[in-house]
Amino acid sequence: MPELPEVEALALDLGGRLQGRAVTKVHLAQFSALKTFDPPLTALEGVLVDGVTRHGKFLDIDLSGTHLVMHLARAGWVRWRDEVPATPPKPSPRSTIAARIVLDDETGLDVTEAGTRKSLAMYVVRDPLDVPGIASLGPDPLTDDFTRERLGEILQAEGRKQLKGVLRHQGTIAGIGNAYSDEILHAARMSPYKPASSLDDDELTVLYDALRATLGAAVDRSRGLAASELKGEKKTHLAVHGRTGEACPVCGDVVREVSFADSSLQYCPTCQTGGKPLADRRMSKLLK
Ligand SMILES: [Zn+2]
Repeated sequence: MPELPEVEALALDLGGRLQGRAVTKVHLAQFSALKTFDPPLTALEGVLVDGVTRHGKFLDIDLSGTHLVMHLARAGWVRWRDEVPATPPKPSPRSTIAARIVLDDETGLDVTEAGTRKSLAMYVVRDPLDVPGIASLGPDPLTDDFTRERLGEILQAEGRKQLKGVLRHQGTIAGIGNAYSDEILHAARMSPYKPASSLDDDELTVLYDALRATLGAAVDRSRGLAASELKGEKKTHLAVHGRTGEACPVCGDVVREVSFADSSLQYCPTCQTGGKPLADRRMSKLLK
């Protein structure tokens, strides 16, 4: 799933390609991907693109005041077309193309959904805040006003909730998902299960610095890359996320995995949990 750094890079890449162009046609091939009906999809046609921005993990294409907002979710992505095919994409269970945006110079953009759960979401709105997931976003962690003190207030308000869940909850902090929450906690050398309000002053500084450095470095690396290069870039630089069974790049211990909420998390016992593997709470619940 693309998170803040990848969506930021996508917004930059697409902004450069789309800005000043007009959309001539939008083809919808997976009807369930479009979550709104007013304004209609045709409101985007014949209109100039003003720019492309990001809200949390949402991508926002501003078409002269009407917005096409996309949440790529687990398996959604965009693919640039230097030349769009003559035949429009058709609804088909075998095709991953959810929508195609055709520009006035015959270039275009395919929005794809490779997952079986079909969680890609597209919205046509007059104001990005009309998208419920954007209206409820917490603060963006890379803005200047996301200070150490702000993070401290957020963690206090979350009480005994586990850091892993707090970091990736979009209504609490915007843009961090399963991968970067693992990476931030590894960089901070903290247990994913540590209660949010239990951090002392020094630990707050460590977590804040890890959060800003991890996301900032990922944004710096991703900036200027094309959409097609971003996924590989992200994978290459992850220290623990998705690396179960591999050696921790910091200490050499084996990266472990436990289930968490609807997915799983990865961590290094030596770096993060005093050498002790975390109990898989889902498994122990099942066994009781
Ligand atoms: Zn380690």
